[in-house]
Amino acid sequence: MEITLAQPEQSMTLHSDDPSAVLEGILEQAVMLGASDIHLDPVPNGMVARIRVDGLLYTLGQFEKVSPESVTSLIKVSAKMDIVEKRMPQDGHFEFLYPQSNQVVGFRVSTTPTVYGEAVVLRLLNRNSVAETMDNIGFTPEQLETVKKIIYSPYGIIIITGPMGSGKTTLLYLFLRTLNNTQLNIITLEDPIEYQIPDFRQMQVNETIGWSFAKGMRAIVRQDPDIIMLGEIRDSETAMMTFQAALTGRLVFSTFHTFDIPGIIIRLIEMGIPRSVVSHALTGVISSRLVRKICSACAEDVPAIESDLKLLGLPAGEYMLKRGKGCEVCHGTGYAGRTGLFEVVHFDDEIKENVMQSNPAVSLRDLLKTKVHPAMRQIAVDKVMQGITTPAEFMRVIGL
Ligand SMILES: [Zn+2]
Repeated sequence: MEITLAQPEQSMTLHSDDPSAVLEGILEQAVMLGASDIHLDPVPNGMVARIRVDGLLYTLGQFEKVSPESVTSLIKVSAKMDIVEKRMPQDGHFEFLYPQSNQVVGFRVSTTPTVYGEAVVLRLLNRNSVAETMDNIGFTPEQLETVKKIIYSPYGIIIITGPMGSGKTTLLYLFLRTLNNTQLNIITLEDPIEYQIPDFRQMQVNETIGWSFAKGMRAIVRQDPDIIMLGEIRDSETAMMTFQAALTGRLVFSTFHTFDIPGIIIRLIEMGIPRSVVSHALTGVISSRLVRKICSACAEDVPAIESDLKLLGLPAGEYMLKRGKGCEVCHGTGYAGRTGLFEVVHFDDEIKENVMQSNPAVSLRDLLKTKVHPAMRQIAVDKVMQGITTPAEFMRVIGL
């Protein structure tokens, strides 16, 4: 299903015959609508511009009077990329002054050859979306207590897990901003740097010159850090160094690509981290997902249908839920902003003992289930019942 954003002026920019006007129009639209990414996709007779807002792609339209190459070349020149090279993927970066607020927005550029020409993806960096606080990001009051216990540990590793676009980086920055004070040396190693924060010493991984996560970690531990934020644990070498840093008294935050909490332990052990080390160093794990919030400007009551009752585990009866009708505020989508769904586990003695004893994964899974209260599914049910999100979002993010 294709959803078009209700933005009458958007098509105007795509009608222009000036490539820079087309590009600027798209960049302005993306910043104005709070997009995270812009996609320029070549199609047989031109190029389609799409933007990702709150996790979903929306079509802006197709270029009409300019050639895709003219816009792509403009981007590549701005991002200091090789404009002649069209057969190999390239990466770059440029900055754009958003005229409406005089705000400088960084864009990470990635080009890749496709059958119809070069596709371009622009990721918006240092967006002004660091407004989340510990209280409004979506934790339940009980979870917030556990999160505080975990992040105020003097040392150890805290891992955030979840699929792409599940709010992991936002959560990492929220924790660092919460802990930040001038007596602490906070160093980050990221790819890319999503938000620039002057108080932190931020490093950007650059694999093309061999400046990898592993090399970066080796350099960081010699820089006398108190808190380390590692964008992602990708390989055994980095994992090992990360755990060593934690065992020598540093507090380390990182993310890991698994779908659930037991999966992290299993993967770490597969990566060669001894059970005793995992058990000693891992302080807590947070699993994160994001659902879109119903737009409060156009929310209306709707009766729950049978499939909603099944999804929410409700007995037969009449229930009222909410949905966004679509208005100017939400550009016709019915949603505005997102909220987190979390599972939080503090690695207490019982869990540490279990990890040490190399019990089969099933028993660790069972134990973790008893420690996660409430489970992510229940949290999603609660948010639908409270009118914060819809059954459709529940389905999209959590599944049946
Ligand atoms: Zn609305």
